[in-house]
Amino acid sequence: MNLVCDVSLATGYKSASQQARVISEDWFARNVYCLACEADSVQRTGANTRATDFVCERCSHRYELKTFRRRPRGRLVDGAFDSMIQRVQQGTAPTLCLLERSDDWRISSLTAIHSSFLIPEVVERRRPLGPRAKRAGWVGCNIRLNLLPIDGEISVVSDGIVHPFQDVRTRFQRFLPLAEKSTTQRGWTLLTLKMVRKLKRGSFNLQDMYAMEDEFARAYPNNRHIRDKIRQQLQFLRDLGVLRFERRGTYKLLN
Ligand SMILES: [Zn+2]
Repeated sequence: MNLVCDVSLATGYKSASQQARVISEDWFARNVYCLACEADSVQRTGANTRATDFVCERCSHRYELKTFRRRPRGRLVDGAFDSMIQRVQQGTAPTLCLLERSDDWRISSLTAIHSSFLIPEVVERRRPLGPRAKRAGWVGCNIRLNLLPIDGEISVVSDGIVHPFQDVRTRFQRFLPLAEKSTTQRGWTLLTLKMVRKLKRGSFNLQDMYAMEDEFARAYPNNRHIRDKIRQQLQFLRDLGVLRFERRGTYKLLN
C-alpha cells in the first residue's frame, strides 16, 4: 500500500471537492483490498449509484468512501435519510471508509466502519433543508459513530502505518455473520458487545453483565427476559470469535 496520492489527477478540475474526490477515489482503487474476502482490489461503481462508491466483484461487498483532513468521531454526515435507513433495514448498507489525508495528500489513516454495525438506532434523521435551500425539504442523515461498539471501527491504516492485511481481514470478517441477522437481533448483539467493552476488562462473569441489566432494559423496555437474552448474545459473540467461555459463567475477551 502506497500512502502517497497522485495529485496530478486534479489538473483540469476547478472545484476543491471535485479534486478531492478524483484523487481519493484513484488512491482507493489502486491501494485498497476487499476486507470481506481475499480479493486484492475493489472496483469503482458507476457515478450514478447513490451512496456507493466501490464494490468487490468477488463477494459483492460495498464500500462508501469519505475523505477528510480530520475525520469526525461523533457524527458522520451521510446522504439521504430514507435511502440509508432502507439499505440498513434490507442489509445492503455499505461499509463506510473514512480516509484522512494531509494537505499534501499523504494518507494518514483509513478506518472502515463495518456495514454489519449499521442499525437503525445509529442512523439519525437530520432536519429537512430550509425553503431557501436548493433542495428544499431534502432530509439527510448522520451516522452516530459514538454509539457503535469500538469493534465496528476497523483500522486499515492509522498514524501513517499500514496494518497487516491478515489482521485487518480477521477483525473485519468475524462480524460478517451478523449481516444475516435482522436489525433487531443485530441491535441486541451490538448492545451486548458495547456493554462488554464498557467493562474494560479482559475477563468478566455473568454477574458483571447482569449488573448492567437496567441499561439493556432502557434500550428494550418491553423485553421481560433480559438475562436470557444477555446469555444468548454472549453465546453468539463466542460463535463470532469475540470471546471465549472459561469456567462456568466466566468469559474471556479474545483479540
Ligand atoms: Zn470481497
